[in-house]
Amino acid sequence: MLKINSSQYNVSEKDSFSESLVTAESLAEIFSIDQNAVLRVTRKYPMRINPYFLSLIGKAGDPIYKQVIPDLAELDQEIFLKPDPLCEEPQSPVPSLIHRYPDRVVFMVSNQCAIYCRHCMRKRRLGQEKQVSESDIAAGIAYIRSTPAVRDVILSGGDPLMLDNVRLEQILSQIRQIPHVEIIRIHTRIPCALPQRVDNFLTDILKKYHPLYVNIQFNHPDEITPQSTAACAALADAGIPLGSQTVLLKGVNDDLKVMMTLMQRLLQIRVKPYYLHHADPVEGTRHFRASIETGLNIMRHLRGRLSGIGVPQYMIDLPGGGGKIPILPEYVLESGPCQLKVRNFEGAVFTYPLR
Ligand SMILES: *Cc1c(COP(=O)(O)O)cnc(C)c1O
Ligand code: SF4
Repeated sequence: MLKINSSQYNVSEKDSFSESLVTAESLAEIFSIDQNAVLRVTRKYPMRINPYFLSLIGKAGDPIYKQVIPDLAELDQEIFLKPDPLCEEPQSPVPSLIHRYPDRVVFMVSNQCAIYCRHCMRKRRLGQEKQVSESDIAAGIAYIRSTPAVRDVILSGGDPLMLDNVRLEQILSQIRQIPHVEIIRIHTRIPCALPQRVDNFLTDILKKYHPLYVNIQFNHPDEITPQSTAACAALADAGIPLGSQTVLLKGVNDDLKVMMTLMQRLLQIRVKPYYLHHADPVEGTRHFRASIETGLNIMRHLRGRLSGIGVPQYMIDLPGGGGKIPILPEYVLESGPCQLKVRNFEGAVFTYPLR
């Protein structure tokens, strides 16, 4: 086991989110990795690991380790990889907000996260600036207010729950005052990556702004601990529907058994698997990209063997800002005027009458 004890990490103290973060030096000591290699990577892509998440690492190279420990492979350049392949920036009417679909926006209210995931699709932005400025947030709210088509506001980032409670509540209440906004979603990794942040103070705020949904990124069963279970229970008890967004990651969860276990455990902690994202072609994340065939195999395996509410949708996000689309295993083998020839979850072939 590691030398760091997560119980020493008291998040109720001031500046709780940035204290006692792990340094390159301590990593080199714990895992006997090359400190200079870590520094070379972090010059381009900052590192952030808190003691809680570090404590989940069982050994060097395991699925938790891979998500947060810098890897020289992040510096590999490939022609098809882009810092912003999904064209989020051209689709940003103001710097803090992406408006891609007619009825919903992604509002990036924070540049900070409890951990910086090495596979992050917004790697280009993270940790680069200290905070999203007040004026960028004000401009985002003004945009939403003046755009009646927006009925769903997704707070994202970075991680919105890295904001302090006062700031978070200001943003939530301003959005809630806009009559055409029907639902608010928070996309976060906090319940998984820094579950101690979810306390009564936070849930008392969140539950004032219903209908509010929280989607959490969980990528591996080892992330489901007594602490993350308690965080999800607190959110669910505050009446917040919880969903998960898992990223398919090579060496982390590109495995039938791991993914099955993850989805089962998510259901046990009242989190409904929402999306399984195929990793985007983002610069610095190439080594995490599994094949589509791997993703489809996982989906084929889950369907029929796992409660239907535990089966996420497998999504790819189209380069150029085309949006997300689901990709599905092929179940229809032949389609004729009178019947369909289909395959069930075990591969058996059936004929389905159409008239
Ligand atoms: C993913 C995403 C959304 C939300 O998509 P849903 O399918 O509604 O969850 C909205 N805007 C952008 C830019 C996105 O990338
Ligand atoms: S928590 Fe989300 S936004 Fe932050 S680094 Fe991880 S994937 Fe990126």
